[in-house]
Amino acid sequence: MADFTTLDGGSTTVDAMHLDSLSAALDGELHLPSGPSYDAARVLWNAMIDRRPGAIVECGSEADVARTVTFAREHGLLLSIFGAGHNIAGNAMVDGGIVISFRSMKNVTVDADSARVTVQPGATLGDVDAATQPHGLAVPTGINSTTGIAGLTLGGGIGWLGRKHGLTIDNLLSARVVTADGRVVTASATENEDLFWGLRGGGGNFGVVTSFEFQAHPLGPEVLAGLIVHSFSDAPSVLRAYRDFVAEAPDEVTVWCVMRKAPPLPFLPEEVHGTEVVVLAAMYAGDMSEGEAALAPLRAIGTPIADVIGPSPFAGWQQAFDPLLTPGERNYWKTHDFDTVTDDLIDTVLEFVAALPDPQSEVFFAHLGGAQGRVPDDATAYQGRSADFLMNVHGRWSDADQDEGCIAWCRSLFAATAPFATGEAYVNFMTEEEGERVTSAYGSSYERLVALKDKYDPGNLFRMNQNIAPSTVG
Ligand SMILES: Cc1cc2nc3c(=O)[nH]c(=O)nc-3n(C[C@H](O)[C@H](O)[C@H](O)COP(=O)(O)OP(=O)(O)OC[C@H]3O[C@@H](n4cnc5c(N)ncnc54)[C@H](O)[C@@H]3O)c2cc1C
Repeated sequence: MADFTTLDGGSTTVDAMHLDSLSAALDGELHLPSGPSYDAARVLWNAMIDRRPGAIVECGSEADVARTVTFAREHGLLLSIFGAGHNIAGNAMVDGGIVISFRSMKNVTVDADSARVTVQPGATLGDVDAATQPHGLAVPTGINSTTGIAGLTLGGGIGWLGRKHGLTIDNLLSARVVTADGRVVTASATENEDLFWGLRGGGGNFGVVTSFEFQAHPLGPEVLAGLIVHSFSDAPSVLRAYRDFVAEAPDEVTVWCVMRKAPPLPFLPEEVHGTEVVVLAAMYAGDMSEGEAALAPLRAIGTPIADVIGPSPFAGWQQAFDPLLTPGERNYWKTHDFDTVTDDLIDTVLEFVAALPDPQSEVFFAHLGGAQGRVPDDATAYQGRSADFLMNVHGRWSDADQDEGCIAWCRSLFAATAPFATGEAYVNFMTEEEGERVTSAYGSSYERLVALKDKYDPGNLFRMNQNIAPSTVG
C-alpha cells in the first residue's frame, strides 16, 4: 500500500499490486519514496521548492505516458509533468501525487533537407542546439541552455531569434499529445487545430506532449554577439539610449538589458566586481558585417567599462548565461509586460537596482517585438505580442534566512512598476502563488482557453500548471 494525494486534495491508498503492475508494464522506470533513485528524480531547478511525490514515472516511451495518465485518472491521483524541471513555479513536482517525468526522453532528430526538427520533451535547449547547429540550423528558443524545451514551448518561448523568426511556438509545426482520456493525438495546423492553438501558449493544460516538431532556420555556426557593460552611474542615460536604439533596430537585432552586480568576469576590471552595472547583451541574427553596422550605434552609447561583442559560436552564446543560472539556488520571480520603457519606469527600476537584496539577484528587460509581435493575437493562445519589452525581477540567493527580505524586494519592485505594465504576462515567468493572475495574463485568449479545457480536460487532471480551470470548476 502507498499513500497518495487525490485530485480533490484528499488522500488515498494505492494497492502495491497496482503499482507493481504499472512498474512491470513500463519501458521506463518507477521511482518510489523508498527507493535509492527517488531523491535525485525529484530535484527541481529552483531550490525553494522541495516536493515529495507518491511516485515518479520516468517514462521510456509514449506508451508509458498514456499508461501513467490512465493510472492517475483511474485512481483519481494528482498528476504533474516534469520536462526538465526548470519552471520557477515548481509545478513539475507534486506533493503526494504521481509525476510523469521526461528525464530519459531527450532525443532530438534533424531532417536537414526540410530543416524540420523532432524533439522529445525531456530535451533541454542545449540538446536542441547541439543537434541542429552541426547542420547550420537553429530553432528559436530561450537564452539559457539548461532550460527544458517542453515547458518553454508550451508557454511561448522567447529568446535571441524571436524578433527574426517568431516565438518558439510560431515555429512549432506539430505535436503528439496524450490527452486526459489516454488517447494519443496529433495537433497541427490541419489536425486537431483547436488543440494546436491551445498548446501554443496554454501551457500543459490540455495534455501531455510526447514529441514536438519544429521548423528550424539557417543560422551560424557563428553569430555576432556579446556584452557591453556600463557603470551604474551612467545607467539613467544608458537605459534611455538603449530604448531609443532598439525602437529603430531591424528584426535581426535583439538586445536584452540586465541590471545587477557585476560577476567576476575576466574582462571586467577587478574594482568593478560586485558593484552594480548595466549589461547590454546583444545578438545579430544574420550576416556578420551587416551586424557590425547594425550594432555600431549601440556600441557608441556612453563610455562602456567593457565591450566584448564579437563573433561567437551560436551554441556557445546560448550558454553564456548558464554560469549565473545554475540549479540549486533559491529563486523568486516577478514579471510584467511593457509596451515601451518610459523614463519613469527606468527611474523606478533603477531605484530598486540600487538596493539589490543579494549579489545574485538581477532585473532584466527582454527585448521583444519584430516577427513575434506581428503574429495576430488570435493565432495562438499566447498573449502579449504587442509588448516590446518584458521585465523579469529575478530574486536569487542561497540562504533560506534571506527568503523574506528577497521576496519582499521582488514584490515591491513588481508593485512599483505595475502602473507601467500592459496587464498581460508571460506565464512561464510566473511564480507558484500567482494563480489569480492567469486570467489577466491570457487577456483575450482566456475564454477560448476555458472552452478548450472543457473539451480536452473537463476533470482538470492537468492542473499542476498556471491553471486554466474548466468552467465546471469555480
Ligand atoms: C534559468 C532559466 C532561464 C530561462 N530562460 C528563458 C528564456 O530565455 N526564454 C523563455 O521563454 N523562458 C525561459 N525560462 C522559463 C522557461 O521557459 C520555463 O521555466 C519552462 O517552463 C521550463 O520548461 P521545463 O520543461 O524545464 O519546465 P518543467 O518545470 O519541467 O515544466 C514546467 C511545466 O510545463 C508543463 N510541461 C512540461 N513538460 C510538459 C509536457 N511534455 N507536456 C505537457 N506539459 C508539460 C507542466 O505544466 C510543468 O509543470 C527560463 C527559466 C529558467 C529557470
